[in-house]
Amino acid sequence: MSGQTRVLVTGAGGFIGHHLTKLLVGKGYWVRGVDVKLPEYEPSDAHEFELLDLRRWAECLQATRGVEQVYNLAANMGGIGFIEANKAVIMHDNVLINVHMLEAARLNGVNKYFYSSSACIYPGYLQKEAAVAPLKESDAYPADPEDGYGWEKLYSERQCRHYLEDYGLSTHVARFHNIFGPLGTYDGGREKSPAAICRKIALAGDGDEIEVWGDGEQTRSYCYVGDCVEGIYRLLNSQCHEPLNLGTDYLVTINQLVEMVARIAGKRIRRRHDLTKPQGVRGRNADLTLMKRVLQWEPRTSLEQGLSVTYRWIEQELRKAGRLD
Ligand code: NAD
Repeated sequence: MSGQTRVLVTGAGGFIGHHLTKLLVGKGYWVRGVDVKLPEYEPSDAHEFELLDLRRWAECLQATRGVEQVYNLAANMGGIGFIEANKAVIMHDNVLINVHMLEAARLNGVNKYFYSSSACIYPGYLQKEAAVAPLKESDAYPADPEDGYGWEKLYSERQCRHYLEDYGLSTHVARFHNIFGPLGTYDGGREKSPAAICRKIALAGDGDEIEVWGDGEQTRSYCYVGDCVEGIYRLLNSQCHEPLNLGTDYLVTINQLVEMVARIAGKRIRRRHDLTKPQGVRGRNADLTLMKRVLQWEPRTSLEQGLSVTYRWIEQELRKAGRLD
């Protein structure tokens, strides 16, 4: 249909990209989704979906043809276990994706470009205590990011900044803080803590024990995916070109997360702590001052509401897969 703004969502076969595609189609955009895989759990709402490998230059040129806006969410990534064990391939794949995507977007005359960065860019030296001070955007330097995934994100953030400064490409960067929700990976090694805990509790019986990585006293703040995609949309349509935290500042320990999910499931759950497993930084929270000012908005879904939807969805998927009665 003429008159519709044409946008590209990369990573549209993945968790956040799939939800974002749905939001943009609902707002009246024409959307091309691109990924190396189709969405696993339900069909994409995209008007066109192309299976492309965005590590390759020619495929980035193909993906960005004829669109005005790009939301680049494609990345080789996973939870802490995955990113700590796969540093070389993560840096290799994601540098290629982001370097090629920016240049292809520029050559194809894209107006606005969104890049999904991460809270993993923040320095380790500020995250050594469970009771942490919320991280402000300016805390990113002097740099000491997560070694691998975090360094690549920090490099790509700067690449976005230089494309704005040198070429006038309107780049927008969000640093996501632990996004969770339904239709995300919940098994297989790439899942994040909320999905892993929901799966373990769904598979456990009343009174059973589940494994928790570390002592469970590490802290995080979590953001529901429906809020995340609304924040992405608002950021791309703002005048802000500085990297911006996108998340919540409701800090919980992993043990509290387990208790919350157990309550939602209606089960008594005991924890067995495996101290040999990676647990990432000791504590991390987000300062949301900039986000609230720039976006005139903040996430609306409470952790409990979001976990409840996520738990029910994972339980239903496990049932479909024949892993639950
Ligand atoms: P995801 O793994 O579900 O989605 C990423 C998608 O990128 C996948 O579908 C994957 O197939 C695709 N992809 C990987 N390599 C590709 C390639 N070579 N060509 C084309 N597509 C490729 O992850 P997500 O949680 O939806 O994350 C989306 C973005 O947000 C990523 O950039 C991620 O680093 C970032 N992020 C996510 C979180 C979070 O909590 N989920 C936190 C911080 C940052």
